[in-house]
Amino acid sequence: MKKDFEVMLVEDSRTQALKLQLMLASQGYHVAVAQNGLEAMNMLLNSHISIVITDWIMPEMDGSELCRAIRKHDFGNYVYIILLTAKDSKHDIIEGLEAGADDYLTKPVDDAELIARLTTAERVIRLESSLKQRNKEIALLSITDPLTRIFNRGYINDNLPKAFKQAVRYVLNLSIIICDIDHFKSVNDHYGHQAGDEVLKFFVKELNGALRKDLDWMARYGGEEFIIVLPETDLTGATAAAERFRSIIARPVIRFEDHDIQITASFGIASIGLEGDKSHLTAEDLIKAADRCLYQAKEGGRNKCIGMSI
Ligand code: GH3
Ligand code: MG
Ligand code: MG
Ligand code: MG
Repeated sequence: MKKDFEVMLVEDSRTQALKLQLMLASQGYHVAVAQNGLEAMNMLLNSHISIVITDWIMPEMDGSELCRAIRKHDFGNYVYIILLTAKDSKHDIIEGLEAGADDYLTKPVDDAELIARLTTAERVIRLESSLKQRNKEIALLSITDPLTRIFNRGYINDNLPKAFKQAVRYVLNLSIIICDIDHFKSVNDHYGHQAGDEVLKFFVKELNGALRKDLDWMARYGGEEFIIVLPETDLTGATAAAERFRSIIARPVIRFEDHDIQITASFGIASIGLEGDKSHLTAEDLIKAADRCLYQAKEGGRNKCIGMSI
């Protein structure tokens, strides 16, 4: 039975290495062999090895030095280290564990014991990897709006100020568009809240598909209001983009159950102008400006784009 984890044996004695390699291979482990710590580090950097069984006394870089080197480096996955030592004095064992080993065995190695220790290693590695995966999922959830699956307000709060500071420091263009669906309350009132949810998802899908990939990003600002961030874009460019988004939204009919729903949206655009000192301004000022423009677009009859520079 083939094991999921790749094992590396670091051992300067070829005969001892071969003996252990054969024994581990017979148990289904794929085993790479390195003859010293330096070789081991090189192999670790170029593979997906997750368990290292290392000798203590070796030329070039010994077992405890190897442990320290492994712990200093981020391999993306946890590397579980079992130290093999002929020494079994408490002092040496403590030194090895302090250097970063997870476990140790004294030589000569008992095969059954090594296999049992490897099983423990696999359990620890699996736990670590599921924990890491879970943390990634939680981190993603914490910046995602559950309904529309785009970034949420928390993401805007963290990232718009960063984009703003960078644009001011390097004198780069930056624009934002705040858009708000027109008379959205009446969609809910006429067709129900679930229809409203479908319209929101549709709105996001349409606009998301129209963004410049890898550069622009969109987030739900709240309710039926969204913000689109366009780095390296001046007011003319952002207004043209908003106008394109406006017509994309106004065009189609959304089919929900037996109803055809048509919506429009209003857009407020704000850009950082390149002339003059902008160091006193913040992302908050950009949002306020876009909000003022959005208000004017609403006042002016909705289904409109209005923009300004700050
Ligand atoms: P205006 O053109 O002035 O923007 O009018 P409006 O009706 O769009 O604006 P208003 O702020 O009066 O109403 C917004 C509505 O959006 C009210 C609220 O119930 C609804 N809404 C906010 N979030 C959601 C949501 O997640 N799902 C649904 N279905 N409705 C939502
Ligand atoms: Mg040795
Ligand atoms: Mg609205
Ligand atoms: Mg609104």
